[in-house]
Amino acid sequence: MARFDRVTVQFSPDVLRVFDAHRQTGWFSKEAGGQMFADINADLWHVLAATGPRAADRRGRFHFWPDRKAEQKEIHRHFAKGLQYVGDWHTHPQKIPVPSQNDIASIENVVRESTLYTPGLLLCIVGLAPFPEGLHLSFHA
Ligand SMILES: [Zn+2]
Repeated sequence: MARFDRVTVQFSPDVLRVFDAHRQTGWFSKEAGGQMFADINADLWHVLAATGPRAADRRGRFHFWPDRKAEQKEIHRHFAKGLQYVGDWHTHPQKIPVPSQNDIASIENVVRESTLYTPGLLLCIVGLAPFPEGLHLSFHA
């Protein structure tokens, strides 16, 4: 596995639309999230697909528990189209979002427990402010 000093991440307009559509703008709106899939070309990761919340996810205003079985299916479906699983995204009811300690522990756990094609995974938090201020992107190896 190649180690990269630097990875450039690009989001397609479709992916930004998915993020935008699930922003937690209302007081009662719940956290939503999904997975991100990219076309990887060395250190350029072009995120072309983001899956949205599923019926089996359990959602709360401050919590998001994804359906892990459905996630595995999504990974296989995108892999068949040449797209790699590169991480997770979810919304926060914060203007400028920051990942919680729980968010970081959870993505680090996925990195540890998964057989990955990439040297690590991205975590994208979608807040309320217009992008890019309303997006928080971190890399976990
Ligand atoms: Zn979170």
